[in-house]
Amino acid sequence: MTTRRIGHWIGGKHVADDTARTGEVFDPSTGEVVANLALADSATVDRAVADALAAWQSWRTSTLTRRSKVLFAFRELVAANRDELATLVGREHGKVHSDAFGEVQRGLEVVEFACGIPHLLKGGFSENVSGEVDSYSLRQPLGVVVGITPFNFPAMVPMWMFPLAIACGNAFVLKPSDRDPSVSMRIAELWAEAGLPDGVFTVLNGDREAVDALLVHPDVAAVSFVGSTPVAQHVSRTANEHGKRVQALGGAKNHMVVLPDADIEMAADAAVSAAYGSAGERCMAISALVTVGDIADELLPAITARIAELTIGPGTDPDSEMGPLVTRVHRDRVADYVAAGADEGAEVVVDGRELAAPDGREDGFWLGPCLLDHVTPGMSVYTDEIFGPVLVVLRVASFDDALALVNASPYGNGTAVFTNDGGAARRFQSEIEVGMVGINVPIPVPMAYYSFGGWKDSLFGDSHVHGTEGVNFYTRGKVVTARWPDPSRRTGVDLGFPTT
Ligand code: NAD
Repeated sequence: MTTRRIGHWIGGKHVADDTARTGEVFDPSTGEVVANLALADSATVDRAVADALAAWQSWRTSTLTRRSKVLFAFRELVAANRDELATLVGREHGKVHSDAFGEVQRGLEVVEFACGIPHLLKGGFSENVSGEVDSYSLRQPLGVVVGITPFNFPAMVPMWMFPLAIACGNAFVLKPSDRDPSVSMRIAELWAEAGLPDGVFTVLNGDREAVDALLVHPDVAAVSFVGSTPVAQHVSRTANEHGKRVQALGGAKNHMVVLPDADIEMAADAAVSAAYGSAGERCMAISALVTVGDIADELLPAITARIAELTIGPGTDPDSEMGPLVTRVHRDRVADYVAAGADEGAEVVVDGRELAAPDGREDGFWLGPCLLDHVTPGMSVYTDEIFGPVLVVLRVASFDDALALVNASPYGNGTAVFTNDGGAARRFQSEIEVGMVGINVPIPVPMAYYSFGGWKDSLFGDSHVHGTEGVNFYTRGKVVTARWPDPSRRTGVDLGFPTT
């Protein structure tokens, strides 16, 4: 059987790029190679950006009515094809279908927000700021903007970016993860079907070579990045040095603080769902459980009982609740962290390394849920982002200790507090140095009309994604001051500084 080849989407059509270097795309549940992926070189990057720039010249002046019509049509197509898009995500990422379906839905909500672009781009107007002088503000598109996205949400994270970028009148070049690129190629086809002019949406597949060429390209105006912290730093620094606007969202270590008065059953459900959903490969996964006082003695048995009930299996099986990890290399890296935690003195309460692979899928990238107790802040299982189904438990004596622990982390993406004490929750939301906070909500991902983003090493740049911050990121402001004098009156020469 010949392996499928995935090229790029440039100028409104598939481009094979037959001579390019290639990468392998896997089915994580079996370990089989399902596709070969063309990896763009700098010449292909130049071609894609030139094409996008040409398309932008007319898209930037398209009417708001036209843009919102295309967006509404795209919205209908994504909604109608939700199931197929989720299947494409699951096949290459490995996540279970309900999870993949949920990510398409959350991306769709950003498209729906972007459908309101005529309202979102309304500027201000002040009549008579001076005699016969009016002032008004405009927001205008930037040009060719780039999105570089991670493997873990191959549909949703790009959809955090391109609906607003395109609605604002930019041309968008997406460089998706090289591990699960197929859903982006299908989304490109849906844009074409929705009536988006060729070249306004481009998918450029590749690895570091393509990213680095985009970051220094003179015709790229802005870069949105989501991925790990070291790459986010590299992207932010390089794009800034080359004069581009940049927002670079990085990695995370998200704490769930459980106070002694919390509802144990609710906290246990939340911890298991948020730690092991999507095999922990979520930037908003709970990876550190901070128990205050003696609550761990009751909470941990409730968590281990729930872990024992989880069904681990391929995403295509409707009974599966958790699938495999994305690659063999990543699976082994996560397992090595569990071994390191044990060596450093943590107690491995549940050891997912013992999981038996499902029948016929022995070469898949399987690792079961892992729970490590008595973890201390110096251990690598706590300091590092593991990005797998590993929940570490840190026991602290007081609420103050919990706040200090979370605030000492270099990451600040998401966090949650579980309590029945409104005053404690209020103090938590006020004092915690994290961008997205949940109160009895373990994964507080903001809705499309708010903006998503962390603090500290979880975001480099000033703007969060989507919501009104997304509109501002993809546009720049201009203020016009206009005089239309009454023809019956004349002002003479006046060398003084203009005042009202
Ligand atoms: P990654 O950093 O390895 O890759 C992200 C993107 O950068 C991909 O498109 C990849 O091809 C490219 N890339 C990788 N290495 C590069 C390099 N050296 N130079 C230039 N480009 C490079 O991330 P990943 O493994 O795909 O995704 C997981 C990471 O993403 C985790 O750290 C997770 O926390 C993070 N993430 C963060 C958020 C957030 O909102 N903060 C959301 C999702 C994922």
